[in-house]
Amino acid sequence: MRLVLLGPPGVGKGTQATRLGAHFGVPHISTGEMFREALSQKTPLGLAAKKYMDAGKLVPDDVTIGLVRERLGRPDSSRGFVLDGFPRNLVQARALEDVLRDVGTRLDAAVSIEAGEETVVRRLSGRRQCRQCGAVYHVEFNPPPEPGKCPVCGGALYQRDDDREETVRERLRVYAVETEPVIEFYRRKGMLVAVDGERDIDEVTASIISALKEGNAVEESVPDGDM
Ligand code: ADP
Ligand code: ADP
Ligand code: ZN
Repeated sequence: MRLVLLGPPGVGKGTQATRLGAHFGVPHISTGEMFREALSQKTPLGLAAKKYMDAGKLVPDDVTIGLVRERLGRPDSSRGFVLDGFPRNLVQARALEDVLRDVGTRLDAAVSIEAGEETVVRRLSGRRQCRQCGAVYHVEFNPPPEPGKCPVCGGALYQRDDDREETVRERLRVYAVETEPVIEFYRRKGMLVAVDGERDIDEVTASIISALKEGNAVEESVPDGDM
């Protein structure tokens, strides 16, 4: 299974990608997580990405595309993947097609998770993440059993800097301008699967899996013929 997950910041892409990766037995690849890990290790990549992330802007395409190209070239990606947070603009969407064509494969579907702005703002403001293992919780909608502590690894939970209100506003603006056209890109190719992201976490997972099984987008999409 080769999927990309699309949708505004905070809609639940990471949450669903983790579950779908486990369900299909393929890696969950998040560009945001890769940047945050690089930053926590203070690598040149992380330090270069930081100023864009802090400002709520996209990290430049050459950096991001290079990172994804390298990641999809690793052996575990050959079984499939769930990409979360990439592609985020049309340049990245076209680059992804090239990368996959180079390794002789293509996407099965692009899943768009839909929810209103009020919902995503509420989800972002209550999001908490484990510093140690990266697991994601919500103070109200998916609370850890012990506040502030990760039940998986015992690590401390923190709030991402870019989940503060000012940065959130800029991320939503960037999403509308740069990322929304990517949804149309996949719709035209007959690859889009849209699901209602307003429902609770388990319901969204179930509806994605059943939409993929129904195979509407998966079977309708015709191979490019140039692979
Ligand atoms: P994204 O990767 O799209 O930014 P996340 O998966 O990190 O979104 O989810 C954002 C926040 O919303 C997290 O705190 C998560 O626990 C919570 N969340 C995710 N999906 C749902 C849902 N269906 N209902 C309620 N809260 C959710
Ligand atoms: P969210 O879960 O809220 O959608 P992410 O964790 O996916 O956020 O991304 C956090 C930040 O990392 C983005 O605001 C952006 O600065 C950077 N980033 C992640 N993915 C990409 C990408 N594909 N292209 C450019 N920048 C990206
Ligand atoms: Zn943890």
